[in-house]
Amino acid sequence: MPKFVYDFTEGNKDLKDLLGGKGANLAEMTNLGLPVPPGFTITAEACRHYLEHGTLPDGLEDEVNRHLTALEGAMGKRLGQSDDPLLVSVRSGAKFSMPGMMETVLNIGLNDESVHGLAAQAGDERFAWDSYRRLIQMFGKTVLGIDGDLFEDAIEAAKDARGTKDDVDLRAEDFESLVDRFKGIVRDQAGREFPTDPREQMDLAVRAVFDSWNAPRAILYRRQERIPVDLGTAVNICSMVFGNLGMDSGTGVAFTRDPATGQQGIYGDYLQNAQGEDVVAGIRNTVPLTELEKIDKGSYDRLLAIMETLENHYRDMCDIEFTIERGKLWMLQTRVGKRTAAAAFRIACQLLDQGLIDLDEATRRVTGDQLAQLMFPRFAARVDGVKKLTRGMNASPGAAVGKAVFTTARAVELSGRGEDVILVRRETNPDDLAGMVAAKGVLTSRGGKTSHAAVVARGMGKTCVCGAEELDVDVKAGRFTAPGGVTVNEGDVVSIDGSSGDVYLGEVPVEDSPVVRYFEGELSLEDGDELVTAVDRVMEHADASAALRVRANADNAEDSARARRFGAQGIGLCRTEHMFLGDRRQLVEKLILAEDADERQAALDALEPLQKQDFEGIFEAMDGLPVTIRLIDPPLHEFLPDITELSVKVALAGDGADRKDRKLLEAVNRLHEQNPMLGLRGVRLGLVIPGLFSMQVRAIAEAAAARRLAGGDPRPEIMIPLVGAVQELEAVREESRAILDEVRERTGVDVPALIGTMIELPRAALTAGQIAEAAEFFSFGTNDLTQTTWGFSRDDVEAAFFSRYLELGIFGVSPFETLDRDGVGRLVRIAAEEGRKARPGIKLGICGEHGGDPDSVHFCHEVGLDYVSCSPFRIPVARLEAGRAAI
Ligand code: ADP
Ligand code: MG
Ligand code: MG
Repeated sequence: MPKFVYDFTEGNKDLKDLLGGKGANLAEMTNLGLPVPPGFTITAEACRHYLEHGTLPDGLEDEVNRHLTALEGAMGKRLGQSDDPLLVSVRSGAKFSMPGMMETVLNIGLNDESVHGLAAQAGDERFAWDSYRRLIQMFGKTVLGIDGDLFEDAIEAAKDARGTKDDVDLRAEDFESLVDRFKGIVRDQAGREFPTDPREQMDLAVRAVFDSWNAPRAILYRRQERIPVDLGTAVNICSMVFGNLGMDSGTGVAFTRDPATGQQGIYGDYLQNAQGEDVVAGIRNTVPLTELEKIDKGSYDRLLAIMETLENHYRDMCDIEFTIERGKLWMLQTRVGKRTAAAAFRIACQLLDQGLIDLDEATRRVTGDQLAQLMFPRFAARVDGVKKLTRGMNASPGAAVGKAVFTTARAVELSGRGEDVILVRRETNPDDLAGMVAAKGVLTSRGGKTSHAAVVARGMGKTCVCGAEELDVDVKAGRFTAPGGVTVNEGDVVSIDGSSGDVYLGEVPVEDSPVVRYFEGELSLEDGDELVTAVDRVMEHADASAALRVRANADNAEDSARARRFGAQGIGLCRTEHMFLGDRRQLVEKLILAEDADERQAALDALEPLQKQDFEGIFEAMDGLPVTIRLIDPPLHEFLPDITELSVKVALAGDGADRKDRKLLEAVNRLHEQNPMLGLRGVRLGLVIPGLFSMQVRAIAEAAAARRLAGGDPRPEIMIPLVGAVQELEAVREESRAILDEVRERTGVDVPALIGTMIELPRAALTAGQIAEAAEFFSFGTNDLTQTTWGFSRDDVEAAFFSRYLELGIFGVSPFETLDRDGVGRLVRIAAEEGRKARPGIKLGICGEHGGDPDSVHFCHEVGLDYVSCSPFRIPVARLEAGRAAI
């Protein structure tokens, strides 16, 4: 039978799975010889058994009895003993800290008799009755599920009766009558008497802590923090020490460094004559911890010494809960403290300089997500005339200011005139993409953190506040209303903070983060910004350690140049279809509408020099580095007008309709697909429209030749999308090779170009061995591969049911956000393995949003890919994670 109960002297900090964070660290402190009140921990395994079967595991009761007896022996008193009671707290504590999410009950063991024993022992009636009423209150709330306000109201009434606002002024008799009132509340609300048997109190509290694992708020918190659902919580039984024994007692919290900035110093709060939960509950005003030096110098010095011990022992910033009982200091909790992103980088480097950790460890201590947070623009100080309208969900961090617009068309139009806009929608859909690209930020009134707006915005590194439910968005009328009847019309300036979810009317000034200015080369290490220096040190080590290279997804010279400044080692995905938008749409229309080979060729001839020009710019920005260019991928109808609008236009015009419009409509109808994602696109398009791919390949080859003649070092890689069978690839490859040869002969310049393919269909992954015969590289297009593996249309499913799926735990995170290792990941592994077998040394990379997602980067490292490719803004994140994966 497993061991279900551990004395504090038996555990240690590495047993968090079993003892929870709190229990493991209480044991660690005990074994360090720090003053921890004795106690024991019931394991999370016992909790899991209880949650699964509804009963406590066999043998648990015996074990608890044994440990309780030992504790009573050590303390020289029994639980609830009438003349001198041992009191205990029953405290939750899971593997991952879930602050305030679960329950704790203090002062267990008090009843109508032992309250007198406690009073006599302490020589303090008031204290004893105060402790007793706290027990009933906490027990009532936590174990019996009674609304806590009922108790608070009774306390307020008692204070009113005394004519005071402070519970310090309440006297013993006040607490004694509160105990009576509280018992009445329990009777009324729970339909039972408050249990006076100490052991029954303890057992019920243990079960209540177990049950609190599945409280709705705990479930919600775990989902947000991606904590597994089935860990369960441990329970700590800890003998009580009392901070409410007079003014020489008190309770407090402390950090060994400032969790906001990482600054070393003395941070914390202290409250005299109070019990633990009073500090966090904000019942009375705490004093800064530094005041403790004046109040109780002995305890203060001891606390500082212990804080130093803990930092040196954990080699990290710790947070601490302590209590002082009549001048004696007790440690009640410690853990490695949560911190802001900036503090994480600073602290890691401070500890490095102190020699407590090495560079590997410092790099492990910071995350890509933290780096991403440091890269978003931020609001400078607030200014007058700016009104906070509401708070939505902080879907994608950053700070954005612009004129409110309600349609994609307006967003594109205004931004085209150089104006900053915020796209405001009830929710966004794929048609809003252009508007989202054009906007500085996106604000929606519906949808959560996996809504279309949120997911797409995060992918683009665009600020987004979603699900601002208090806003009533009227797209047709071009306005929204906020609480208090404020109406915001199109053109009014709003500011949105994607890090907090706040929405303001008016302009809050925005500035680039120092970290971005450093990556951009606008800020140097000589400027002496501590945060920038810390980021630089960690990044340098990550780059030196990484096995994966990091490339960028970029479609133009400007993005390429930026990506390079951010540390990209090439381009992993250049999407050529973006080059067909804007003014060039007309040329594409001509191509589609062409009635014969000549017209088609004319259209292609017009497009070619434009494409060539684009490629030259990109090759120049990425000189000496590989540039993977994907031939056109999306279905052609995406370049044509909307079918409904056009039908209406033609119908309204009747006989007078434009010949061109009629032809367009015909084409739109011809190309209309039920399921465009699975339709005529990618390599299929290249095989069906003669000359299309050739034109693109020629443009690439000509651009490369021109760059070479200009003294550059272009490294093109031509990528064929949506291949499912090696035969498709062979056909395009032959055509492309012929063109490359032709350009080489004509220009006399020999620029080698790799030809490879995307692996984004399950069939491609499963036949990767064959495909590798014709491909010099694979790039895993994990966006499409996820769609086709799951059978999810990304544009439809996220809004439709992803939040339900997350709720049900079908997946912990959207597979579009983090690569699904078991399914999609398995296809990637198979393809990588078989591709390598067929063509040793084949280059393998991944493009698609997963390339910038920390967890997915680690996966790519494990599979041994050569590179990941992600949007320019995510490159530092991917670099850091690539390094961390290798350390
Ligand atoms: P949480 O996880 O919410 O912080 P805790 O189990 O740490 O809950 O307990 C809540 C409060 O009660 C804390 O301030 C803690 O310091 C205090 N506390 C817990 N156990 C004891 C004890 N045995 N003696 C005195 N105070 C305690
Ligand atoms: Mg605590
Ligand atoms: Mg694709």
